[in-house]
Amino acid sequence: MSQPPKPPSLLELFPEETREAADLLKQAVPHMVRHSIPPNPVHYALWYTYSKGLEPDLNRRLDKITQDFDVFPPESAIKLFRDYIIRGELEEARQGQQQVIELVDDIESDVSRSVNGSQAYQSSLASGLAALHEPIIDDLPGVLSHLQESTQLMQEQQELFLYRLRAAQSEIQHLRNQLERAQLAATLDGLTQVFNRQAFTRLLDQSLKNGQEGLALVMLDIDHFKQFNDQFGHPLGDRVLQHVGQLLRELLPARAMAGRYGGEEFCVLLRDCRDLDTARRFAEQLRGKVQALRVKVRRTDQVLDTITASFGLALAEPGDSFESFITRADDALYQAKRNGRNQVHPPASEPVLSA
Ligand code: GH3
Ligand code: MG
Ligand code: MG
Repeated sequence: MSQPPKPPSLLELFPEETREAADLLKQAVPHMVRHSIPPNPVHYALWYTYSKGLEPDLNRRLDKITQDFDVFPPESAIKLFRDYIIRGELEEARQGQQQVIELVDDIESDVSRSVNGSQAYQSSLASGLAALHEPIIDDLPGVLSHLQESTQLMQEQQELFLYRLRAAQSEIQHLRNQLERAQLAATLDGLTQVFNRQAFTRLLDQSLKNGQEGLALVMLDIDHFKQFNDQFGHPLGDRVLQHVGQLLRELLPARAMAGRYGGEEFCVLLRDCRDLDTARRFAEQLRGKVQALRVKVRRTDQVLDTITASFGLALAEPGDSFESFITRADDALYQAKRNGRNQVHPPASEPVLSA
């Protein structure tokens, strides 16, 4: 029997590059405004997909709901989101769940087979022992050989059980690895392989709420990147972003984490960072490495050596919220831009650092 086609994952569903995606969103927003659809990620995803027009069924259902209702019912939006946007992810989760159920069923039937075997063994031992207690044993060799046979059978069953248990353990490990990979993929930015914005902000928020001390934020933004894209093309721009992601991963100190905070904007959260100097040294090192990047324009073999980034620093203060902390780093970054780019700037109250 042929398998039904696997529903697409989110990455397969939205392969568009930034510019194309922006165009689709530009088409989606007027639809949402016209029908007073509240702007939230679920609706954006639905109306964005509507603009693509590749899911005629979804478009029909959206058209019908907007005709029938003055206010778009939130439960319908969630249902459509599950049916059309995250169906690949739901299907994968369902399959994982099914595999676990089958595995547990297998283990359960092995255990009950083993229990039944033990019970049969126990009664065979009991009747053998009873026969041995008889004053006159009719068939001693027969009784002993029966006992030996049932002991051997029991041993074989136990070995089989152990074998299957080990197989189940390795299957469980395999499923666990799969789950970990899926979880990691959901938290990583596909292009740069550092945390995506959502995961980064969640982890940063947790660190602040846990009252961790010595947190410092380094925020960086590539200089004149729009111009770079315009001049050398978006794919080369993407390669630069990949290089920056790689630099971040290579230079990250222990327990630090990096995230892509916006298009060409990254954040690094440093831990155990007691003073601004430590954060500045890290940022300066990164700044130097970005400046030393060389990318080749494949078409012309021209080697570009003009990529730079600006950096803003902030140290966490008692009572900082996630927003106040990020805002201080962002303000410092803005100052670094204003002062001429390709430099590191401390938080507003600190004296300017020389490069
Ligand atoms: P500034 O020095 O002030 O930061 O100037 P800028 O041009 O870097 O800043 P601006 O915010 O005007 O432009 C950011 C640009 O980053 C716009 C867009 O072309 C580019 N960008 C954002 N995301 C991506 C991406 O995923 N890939 C590529 N190639 N470019 C991106
Ligand atoms: Mg920029
Ligand atoms: Mg920017």
